[in-house]
Amino acid sequence: MTDQAKPTLEARHLVKDFTLRSGLKTSKLHAVKDVSFTLEAGRTIALVGESGSGKSTIARMLMKLEKPTSGEILLNGRASGNHGGELERYRSDVQMVFQDPFASLNPFHTIVHHLERPLRLHHPELSGSQVRERALELLERVRLSPAEHFADRRPHELSGGQRQRVAIARALAPGARFIVADEPVSMLDVSIRLGVLNLLADLQREDDLGVLYITHDLATARHFSDEIMVLYHGDVVERGPADKVILDPQHDYTKTLLGAAPDPENLGRLRDEVRRELAGA
Ligand code: ADP
Ligand code: MG
Repeated sequence: MTDQAKPTLEARHLVKDFTLRSGLKTSKLHAVKDVSFTLEAGRTIALVGESGSGKSTIARMLMKLEKPTSGEILLNGRASGNHGGELERYRSDVQMVFQDPFASLNPFHTIVHHLERPLRLHHPELSGSQVRERALELLERVRLSPAEHFADRRPHELSGGQRQRVAIARALAPGARFIVADEPVSMLDVSIRLGVLNLLADLQREDDLGVLYITHDLATARHFSDEIMVLYHGDVVERGPADKVILDPQHDYTKTLLGAAPDPENLGRLRDEVRRELAGA
C-alpha cells in the first residue's frame, strides 16, 4: 500500500455548541470551536487539554455519539451516514475506549460476551465456534492470558486495568482501523498505567492503527504520540510534532500546562520506565 492509500480519519472544522437553559434564559456554550485534523493509520495524535476543554466532545463527535453543530467527519475522504448500515460500517472502522473501565462493561455479561457481540455483528459469516475462537484470540492479544481463565468471568471479577484491556479488545473486535482513546488510563492505578499504554502502542504497531490519544498528561502524550494538539476552551491553540511541542512550547497555555506537570524530571523517569518495560524487565 502506498502512503497515499493509507486509511485516514479526518475532522474538518468541527464545531459544537451546547444550549444551556436556566429558568427561562438560554445561553450557548461553545464547547468545540473549529477543530480540524487528519489522523492517518499507523499514527498517534495526542489531544491534550485540561478538564472541560472539549476533548470528550470531540471524541463523541468522532464516534458519532454527538452530532456536530457544523463541520464534517471524513473516513477515507468520505462522509458517511449517521444511521443503520452506514453507521455500523463506520463503527467497524472507528472504535472508542472510554475513560471509565467500571462503567463501560455490562456487569451482567461475561467477558467473552463483550467480544462475541461485535464479532457477530461485524462478521456474520463466522460460525458460533469461530466467534468464540476469535474472542479468545482477542483476549490473548490484550494479554489476558490464558484467555479461558477470563472468558466466562464477569466484569466485577476483574481489576480496572484488566477491564480496560477488555475494552481495548472490544474496540479491536470489529477490525477497527482507528481507536479514539478518551483518557484511557486516567482512572487506573498509577502503577499499571504504563502497561496499558504500552499494550495500546504494541497493538497499534501490529495492526497499523490510527490512535487519537486523549489525555491531560503531557509526559505520556509525548512518549506515545507522533503529534500533539493542545486544546484550550475548545480551540486548538498549538499543534506539532510531540517532541517539539513539549521541548519548545510556543503558546502560553502549553507553557502553563507544562509548568503544572508534576515535575519535569518525570519526563526522564517515565522514559526510563518505558525502556525497562519494553526490555521486558
Ligand atoms: P473534557 O473532556 O475536555 O473534560 P468535555 O468535552 O466533556 O471536556 O466538555 C467541554 C465543555 O462542554 C464543558 O464545559 C462541559 O461542561 C460542556 N458539555 C459537555 N457535554 C455537554 C452537554 N451534553 N450539555 C451541555 N454541556 C456539555
Ligand atoms: Mg473528558
